[in-house]
Amino acid sequence: MAEDCLFCKIARGEIPSTEVYSDDEFYAFRDINPAAPVHVLVIPRKHIARISDASVDDASLLGRMLLAANEVARKEGIAESGFRYAISCNKDGGQLVFHIHLHVLGGRELGWPPG
Ligand code: AMP
Ligand code: ZN
Repeated sequence: MAEDCLFCKIARGEIPSTEVYSDDEFYAFRDINPAAPVHVLVIPRKHIARISDASVDDASLLGRMLLAANEVARKEGIAESGFRYAISCNKDGGQLVFHIHLHVLGGRELGWPPG
């Protein structure tokens, strides 16, 4: 937990968000500026600033984060039509919030490569 981290505050319920999925380890909520009809952010409740900071101790947490995202995709009805998971890291990756978050994007055909 980091006192001044936006996503830690969202996970603790101190800043409002629209919940999509929640368990002991993860919280998922709608992106405030959606880039697709379905745009959900899955975050670990544990504060990790960036994916490149994750250690081997976080390996199973990162695996379970993908499984939580699969649950989100099922709940949002995009598991069959398809979706993309994205994690931004640092400046060139376009990371704006320094608490790991997995973008779950779907509900339309997504272009490649990303801009
Ligand atoms: P990134 O650029 O990968 O760091 O993504 C940060 C994402 O967080 C962006 O897609 C923002 O729209 C989203 N975001 C920022 N503040 C909030 C908020 N208060 N509630 C929901 N999503 C947010
Ligand atoms: Zn945090």
